[in-house]
Amino acid sequence: MAESRELPGRLAILPFSNKVLLPGAFIRIRCTSLISVKLMEQELWQREDKGLIGILPVRGAAETTSMDSMLSQGAGSESGERSSKVQVSTFDTRKADGKTPQELIHWHNRGVAARALHLSREVEKPSGRVTYIVILEGLCRFNIEEFSTGGPYCTAKISPLEMTKAEMEQVEQDPEFVALSRQFKATAMELISILERKQKAGGRIKGLLETLPFHKLADIFVASFEMSFEEQLSMLDSVDPKVRLSKATELVDRHLQSIRVAEKITKKVEGQLSKSQKEYLLRQQMRAIKEELGDNDEDEDDLASLERKMQKARMPSNVWKHAQRELRRLKKMQPQQPGYNSSRVYLELLAGLPWQKASEEQELDLKAAKDQLDCDHYGLMKVKQRIIEYLAVRKLKPDARGPVLCFVGPPGVGKTSLASSIASALGRKFIRISLGGVKDEADIRGHRRTYIGSMPGRLIDGLKRVGVCNPVMLLDEIDKTGSDVRGDPASALLEVLDPEQNKSFNDHYLNVPFDLSEVIFVATANRMQPIPPPLLDRMEVIELPGYTDEEKLRIAMQYLIPRVLNQHGLSSVFLQIPEDMVKLVIQRYTREAGVRNLERKLAALARAAAVRVAEQEEAVSVCKDVHKLTSPLMENRLAGGAAMEMEVIPMGVSNHEISNAFRIASPLVVDEVMLEKILGPPRFDDREAADRVATPGVSVGLVWTNFGGKVQFVEATSVVGNGELHLTGQLGDVIKESAQIALTWVRTRVADLKLAAAVETNLLQGRDIHIHFPAGAVPKDGPSAGVTLVTALVSLFSERSVRSDTAMTGEMTLRGLVLPVGGIKDKVLAAHRYGIKRVILPERNLKDLVEVPAAVLSTLEILVAKRMEDVCIQVPWLRKIADSRSDYPSALDNRLYFRRKVPDSI
Ligand code: ADP
Repeated sequence: MAESRELPGRLAILPFSNKVLLPGAFIRIRCTSLISVKLMEQELWQREDKGLIGILPVRGAAETTSMDSMLSQGAGSESGERSSKVQVSTFDTRKADGKTPQELIHWHNRGVAARALHLSREVEKPSGRVTYIVILEGLCRFNIEEFSTGGPYCTAKISPLEMTKAEMEQVEQDPEFVALSRQFKATAMELISILERKQKAGGRIKGLLETLPFHKLADIFVASFEMSFEEQLSMLDSVDPKVRLSKATELVDRHLQSIRVAEKITKKVEGQLSKSQKEYLLRQQMRAIKEELGDNDEDEDDLASLERKMQKARMPSNVWKHAQRELRRLKKMQPQQPGYNSSRVYLELLAGLPWQKASEEQELDLKAAKDQLDCDHYGLMKVKQRIIEYLAVRKLKPDARGPVLCFVGPPGVGKTSLASSIASALGRKFIRISLGGVKDEADIRGHRRTYIGSMPGRLIDGLKRVGVCNPVMLLDEIDKTGSDVRGDPASALLEVLDPEQNKSFNDHYLNVPFDLSEVIFVATANRMQPIPPPLLDRMEVIELPGYTDEEKLRIAMQYLIPRVLNQHGLSSVFLQIPEDMVKLVIQRYTREAGVRNLERKLAALARAAAVRVAEQEEAVSVCKDVHKLTSPLMENRLAGGAAMEMEVIPMGVSNHEISNAFRIASPLVVDEVMLEKILGPPRFDDREAADRVATPGVSVGLVWTNFGGKVQFVEATSVVGNGELHLTGQLGDVIKESAQIALTWVRTRVADLKLAAAVETNLLQGRDIHIHFPAGAVPKDGPSAGVTLVTALVSLFSERSVRSDTAMTGEMTLRGLVLPVGGIKDKVLAAHRYGIKRVILPERNLKDLVEVPAAVLSTLEILVAKRMEDVCIQVPWLRKIADSRSDYPSALDNRLYFRRKVPDSI
């Protein structure tokens, strides 16, 4: 605390509107008005000795004068008790119209001299406006004797009001003053101890109580409270220390009382409020604050908006009643209550489901639908025809309960894209629900809401996502659902696909029926066998067997390449993939039934081209900055051996045109070298089969997998042992039994087959047989390898290798009968893809060849077998099918199926 000092006779006056600075108090103000800035500049900033200024309270100035804002005001850093910030104002002493403020407002006749503790000057850019921030400390009271308004700011002649030391000593002897001091001290101590308890900051104030004279302490204490302007003025006017002390005691006491009352109320309320109520109260307060701040535009009342959404959802009346009940329950709950959130999410789902909302179905134009199918897919004539029939029926009888179409075939043959074409032909939205790996019925039907983390099933979830009640819904991979302890998804699907039942489909989570009868279901599967028969019964199966190389080539040229180029922002101007290169990609890099891998490989080529084109573009734009662009015109000149020269771009030519010109100059044409560079070394080649069957004991089989047909080699070898049979290659039980049967049959036919040096001897004498199915990581099973196994064993024992161009399939019995097997079409197509020339099939599978495209059959020699002997010894029994079909080679091939090992085995 500064000691009171000698006051000068005249002081510059800074008026404070409706605010008093008491001696011993601190205040921080920002001076922005012209006059206050001038005052600061001349009285405090420029003067070396940093003089004093007079702070004068002014009443009613707020309405009449311009304001400087006060940042904060304080009652002394020593006291450390800053409780509130009060916005008050200082003001200019002159009005724009020239009238002095004295004429308009009431100036108090007493003020407080103040000194600046800290002064900072800010210059705003670019206006150059100067403002000062100053921290002032009130020192002592003065009386105004005479005003002067002649200068840039007000000054006044003043006389000090503080007592001299001698006068003060005299007062201190006064018993009344002593009594008042004691009372003040007691009250102040009480206040300090309360504050100490609450804020743990009373230590320093306690020290002040011991060191400062009481008449000064009175000012300091009072300055830290919130008081009315009148009270502040009366405190300022209390020049007599006794009056001042009694007023201060009264004010401190009042403050004390109000703290006590507040404490009491808080305690009482705290006792009554439970934790959740407290949170509720705080939330209400937060909402009120947000409202006050105008912050709650987006955060409008959640429940009200939910209710509005529910009204818009147009639910059926029974669902609406149910939803209303749930909403009423929700409204009564506290947001923190368990169940509040799940109830809200549930209602959100009810409100979000498309109960009535349907996409407008266009008048079905069959011609347009046919064009759409043709435009999206090559070939598949039968499939397209069936789809058109389906659509025609829908056109004539829109509410007809037609069968559910189920596309069955290997991956990448266009099942999904056909379904999506149906949707676009009908003008409906399309949604795909993947059922692969679904083992839990709840995945289809949802979990009951009593479960933690319960959710609706995939169908209801899909409908919410698609937002209409009549989409085309693709149930993808319906053959991949399985059943376990958690129920059978297929039974739920039965209800979904049954037109009689799906009118009121019951999702466990939803707990109210949902009408699925508007949805058009289409299913896809890789195989028919795993589909449970009752489910299969509800569907009409349309098979897509896979494509021949020729078909793939057409699909690639007409559909895939344009699509891939488009997806990569390219066109034939940038990249050209000649037909023979596509052929190479098909033969060397993709051996699949569908075209998905082919599309991927083409995309890889497009990506590589995109990099090149993008690099060229970059080169062009860099050059543009330095005016060094080439054009076709210039290319010609360069080609002709001309020297490099500058060509300034005419103003009218845009960068786009220039880069186009550049692009046209160099389209990228894929060649064999580039193919290997981008796609790597070929994955397949025609010599693979020949190489693998070069040694005796290897035969070529045809198998069926989820990915369509496949060529499967079977290897057999013998080692010294005890006559045991070892089988490897992740084989299932059925295939293991086939191997046993094959070995037994071969052993019974040792003589007939003239197996070398084995007549009358035991084939297994002193040796073990090991049969392996390569691609050991892939599980294999099924009976169709019987014929292939026998062939491998005969080859092994006879030491003759098989023809590499012949593949076979067929189940065999212990007696040597060859039984028919499934998947003939896929197997024959696989043989064709693999470059196999001859295929041996069970005789009873002849009828299945009708489904194989004639173009494929014409390249193959089909041999049929009734018994195992047909395959092995009685080669003349092997006859070609359909000798009547002119496109087959007519001569019977009587050559031995097995050939001598060297040199003609290949
Ligand atoms: P799936 O559902 O049978 O696994 P997709 O329908 O996803 O296969 O087809 C894979 C890709 O092959 C898609 O880009 C599709 O357009 C294309 N595709 C398949 N068959 C044909 C076809 N016949 N004509 C044109 N594109 C085809």
